[in-house]
Amino acid sequence: MHKFSIAIHGGAGTILKQDMTPELEKAYLTGLEDALAAGYAVLEEGGSAVNAVKASIVVLEDNLLFNAGRGSVFTKKGVQEMDAAIMDGKDLSAGSVAGIRNVRNPIELATEVMLNSNHVFLSGKGANDFAIKQGVKLEPDEYFFSQFRYDQWKEIRDSDNYSLDHTHMGVEELMKDKKFGTVGAVACDVDGNIAAATSTGGMTNKKYGRIGDSPLIGAGTYANNNTCAISCTGHGEPFICAVAAHDVNCLMEYKGMTLQQAMNEVVNIKLVKMEGEGGMIGVDAQGNAAMIFNSAGMYRGMKNSTGEKIIGIYKD
Ligand code: ASP
Repeated sequence: MHKFSIAIHGGAGTILKQDMTPELEKAYLTGLEDALAAGYAVLEEGGSAVNAVKASIVVLEDNLLFNAGRGSVFTKKGVQEMDAAIMDGKDLSAGSVAGIRNVRNPIELATEVMLNSNHVFLSGKGANDFAIKQGVKLEPDEYFFSQFRYDQWKEIRDSDNYSLDHTHMGVEELMKDKKFGTVGAVACDVDGNIAAATSTGGMTNKKYGRIGDSPLIGAGTYANNNTCAISCTGHGEPFICAVAAHDVNCLMEYKGMTLQQAMNEVVNIKLVKMEGEGGMIGVDAQGNAAMIFNSAGMYRGMKNSTGEKIIGIYKD
């Protein structure tokens, strides 16, 4: 039997133990545990990597603590616009959505795009129209509301600042107010197929229809059975310019690096030079998994069929 594995993240950034209450820490760890279990159960039953990453992401999107689906951050206009992507490493098929509203699970819509549209990337109203056509579950604005994200947005809505939901650029108080989010999952199934998925509300106070790296195939999300499946989190702009996820693929394909070496090169060398704070999770088709970040912390977890399991938040 082929070794199978799954890794997940719930966002990376200035996550420090001293800023966390024991209750909040427990809630995050439970959220990660639940998401990991959902994806792993799919793999254990012989399900596909695509279905496993989807299952994990749905659990994280439904959890108010994470900045994806329910609990997404607010835009400059005070609404929630979400982005998501999924990619199947078996045939390089992919589906992405950006700037969507009221879709309960953006990853479901991205999967619909991958499987049932002739396209890869849909945005805004058109993507919402497609959601209605495909019968993807919608929810009213109130469903997505969370007081802490709202308060976070209120702090900066009158400024030109925008912030990761964890690392703020501009307002001191928010530096102390660590709220984290974007979610991702990568998996290798029993057949040695791999997949990646990412879902996010993006950055607090984003405007002009700003889209980050998460839904961009090659930047925040990428999967190819020959190399790796990667999901990124962090400051989207440098991740886009670094074409971060695909860069890991290239280092493996053209330079023969291992997954760990390639991820380390991109996260700790290339992105650091570009001031790209964040991290990524990855798997290869042999079932190896890695979780690497250059920020203070990253909500993360991995589990494989040889009995290894890690759940972590901080650097050490
Ligand atoms: N990368 C996401 C974005 O820029 C944010 C995050 O990972 O927290 O939209």
